[in-house]
Amino acid sequence: MCGIIGCFKKEGCYDTLLTLLHRLEYRGYDSAGIAVLSSGRKTLTVRKRKGGVSGIEGRRIAGETGIGHTRWATHGAPSDRNAHPHVCGKFALVHNGIIENYLSLKEELVRGGAEVASDTDSEVIVRLIEKVYTGDFFAAVAAACKRLQGSYAIAVLCKDAPGEIVCAKYKSPLVAGASDDALYVCSDIPALCGEAEYICTANDGEFIRIKDSKIVFCDEDGAEISKVFERVSPVLRAEKPQQGSFMEQEIREIPRALAETYVGLKGLDFAVCARELRQTKRLFAVACGTAYHAALAFKDAVERDSKIPVLCHTASEFRYRKPLVCQGDVVVAVSQSGETADTLEAVRLAKNCGAYVIAVTNIEHSSITGLADFSIVMRAGPEIAVAATKSYNCQLLCLYYLAAQLYFYKNAQMPAYYSQLCLLPEAARAAFDTFIPMRILAEKCKSARGMYFLGRDRDVRTAAEGALKVKEIAYVFAEGYAAGELKHGTIALIEEGFPVIMIATNSALTGKCENALEEVRARGAYTVLFTQDEGAMSKSCADFKCLLPSVCEELMPVISVIPLQYFACRMCIERGYDPDKPRNLAKSVTVE
Ligand code: GLU
Repeated sequence: MCGIIGCFKKEGCYDTLLTLLHRLEYRGYDSAGIAVLSSGRKTLTVRKRKGGVSGIEGRRIAGETGIGHTRWATHGAPSDRNAHPHVCGKFALVHNGIIENYLSLKEELVRGGAEVASDTDSEVIVRLIEKVYTGDFFAAVAAACKRLQGSYAIAVLCKDAPGEIVCAKYKSPLVAGASDDALYVCSDIPALCGEAEYICTANDGEFIRIKDSKIVFCDEDGAEISKVFERVSPVLRAEKPQQGSFMEQEIREIPRALAETYVGLKGLDFAVCARELRQTKRLFAVACGTAYHAALAFKDAVERDSKIPVLCHTASEFRYRKPLVCQGDVVVAVSQSGETADTLEAVRLAKNCGAYVIAVTNIEHSSITGLADFSIVMRAGPEIAVAATKSYNCQLLCLYYLAAQLYFYKNAQMPAYYSQLCLLPEAARAAFDTFIPMRILAEKCKSARGMYFLGRDRDVRTAAEGALKVKEIAYVFAEGYAAGELKHGTIALIEEGFPVIMIATNSALTGKCENALEEVRARGAYTVLFTQDEGAMSKSCADFKCLLPSVCEELMPVISVIPLQYFACRMCIERGYDPDKPRNLAKSVTVE
């Protein structure tokens, strides 16, 4: 989703601004823009346009201080005039987030004679700043922020203050960075890696001031807040593949990502949360999208082994449901980026209710790790493709590991599958053998108008994730759900050639899965079976069969999803789309 940047560099910030904007591109956006302030001539130059970052590249703009933006429109269509930065008087501003009270603020400004130049909510911020400005740049930004409701990370330039950037953060991510020759602010930690050597994340309500070649965190009155900058791990950067897509590259990285995540888990001290895990009578799991499917898999594992309930909520609904969460509960929040706005809100609510929060994320120092009581940071490495793949496999690994710890603290021994976790990287590599069959399957299914992914027990989660991938990047309507539900309605849609993909990794249930396939086949469906059970495979009537590598059944979801991820990627390519640029989607969803 959209990104903001700010940079101060004595030799000129233009090139760095563009480098950082390019690094933000993976998040998904529709317009881009920069503003550069030159101290010598006190000129403020703005270049902004609908479309890609390359659209604003051109003659170098001289100046040490600059801000930049990639926009994912929430208010007002993607257009040149709605692109950021927004300018008013001496000020230029970039904004990430949503100003919920922008209409009333806009009316007030218009009544006062303002001529609004865009359809965005963001423009009101820069107009408010200009209105209250009496010569103190910081005070004007702080005063304007007091009027805002909603979420924002902003970076502002003022012509009267060359060399200065004032930033504010509330419920949208913002991080400061420093290297030998430049100072930065950015909404995205991975984008800063490789430029900044040290980073420090801002908390809600904090301001960041770049001034006199220094970065200072302060409160709304300008009083300095002491913060610790941490060295940033260069591992967070990803290079564009020579050929193929990021998505395919990331699927091929799954074995390595699992291996590194496993090593990281081994080094993590779960004893820190032993008391909470031992005492809890129930857990909650909150997440969105793909991470929600991982949360459901966690529920399956905990309820099966530890016999305590896990209440799963999509994070976007959590707070509207008035959840029963309270002190003594453990809430597990899963977010690849650690910045998913809905998940962060759910975490805040859980904390307010006194719950103990465990975060599972791919990004150290992200907002979620700042909020959580305990964080499990997986080591999937940078995930650039919008459609999550390797992060899902690693989330599952982390969550099964956590489920095992919970079991351990309740039963003084590890569950049987625990010793098999180390086998997952090898099994994931073996799953690459399915890629040629998946290419063939995608070729066969490319013209389908819809498809079903079915499973039973834990395979229902895999089915849901397979369907989500196909919807996200191949734009084919897909449903993933329990095979037993077929007869309760959805079988009505089966017609000649309709693909029905069955994931059957639970040997006790393969017979029932086979029955469901027979039923849809009798009605003309094109049936596909995924199983690791060679016997079931040879007996099956399915039109297309795919043998999965075998790991213990409890862990099969980590592996059985791999061919489905690759299948979705191939479906996308077969249908003529770019897997890395799914329409309307953004990588880290930082607005609610
Ligand atoms: N709400 C603002 C807009 O629509 C900012 C969107 C964003 O975060 O990119 O311009």
